[in-house]
Amino acid sequence: KQKAIATPSQTKHYLGKYGFSFKKSLGQNFIIDVNVLKNIIQAAAVTDATGVIEIGPGMGALTEQLAQHAKRVVAFEIDQRLAPVLADTLSDYDNVSIIYQDILKADVQEIVQREFNREQPIKIVANLPYYVTTPIIMKLLMAKLPIESITVMIQKEVADRMAATPNNKSYGSLSIAVQYYTEARVALNVPKTVFMPQPNVDSAVLHLDFRQTPPVQVQDEEFFFELVQACFAQRRKTLRNNLFNFFKTSLSKMEIEQKLTEALIDGTRRAESLTIAEFAQLAHTFQPSYL
Ligand code: SAM
Repeated sequence: KQKAIATPSQTKHYLGKYGFSFKKSLGQNFIIDVNVLKNIIQAAAVTDATGVIEIGPGMGALTEQLAQHAKRVVAFEIDQRLAPVLADTLSDYDNVSIIYQDILKADVQEIVQREFNREQPIKIVANLPYYVTTPIIMKLLMAKLPIESITVMIQKEVADRMAATPNNKSYGSLSIAVQYYTEARVALNVPKTVFMPQPNVDSAVLHLDFRQTPPVQVQDEEFFFELVQACFAQRRKTLRNNLFNFFKTSLSKMEIEQKLTEALIDGTRRAESLTIAEFAQLAHTFQPSYL
């Protein structure tokens, strides 16, 4: 069997062989440590029955490990310059397809239906390009895909925000958005030294398990997320003040106080202390008059 791609010497070998130069604008930081890749695959609980969707295979460092552990791998790569490299590095594997498309523009639903048949479950596993971490994750969360989980290496700071619980400085509207769809946890922290070139920020592996049903009943998801964002608009201010601001043209201060009382939520609290259930209560109370 050939040597793993994810080593400094193999990565340099392929860089030289294809005259490849990293594009910072595409978030090209490749992994040069096989152990980190094995830890990602373990956190994702990939088995030989699993279908994997990867985003950004780069030179194939993670793709190769996935091909060895999963039934089938379908990877989206935006950078066509990697086509000859990947054709070479992954030539030993017949269970991998690379689709040269921007994940943000791709019809992922259609491609999943076309590319997978008996693989179960389907999971997303990736070392994401950091300049578009949040848009990619939000797209995957909202796309209603037949997917069990998402396991991704991202900036540690963003992973912490997505997995944060109330009364934590990382807790905010992003935590609520992610946790409305999934159960989130940070599986491991990863130092900068395992990348070539090294990024400026620390990394972490975030594991998201899709929920069967949302954790709260919400009448209008759009209004719910908008309200949550408004409550966090000025983190240091009270809930009451953020709500005054958000509803300033539609509700009087008195009406807002009444609704807070009705929702059984103390307006002197800050948004960062509210659970997702309490935000749902707020949305329920504030909704009718707003629409
Ligand atoms: N998986 C490889 C590894 O672990 O070594 C490379 C990871 S690198 C952090 C991110 C990869 O995503 C790069 O190969 C980059 O070209 C690709 N990429 C960037 N933006 C993308 C997008 N919008 N859609 C698909 N791939 C993208």
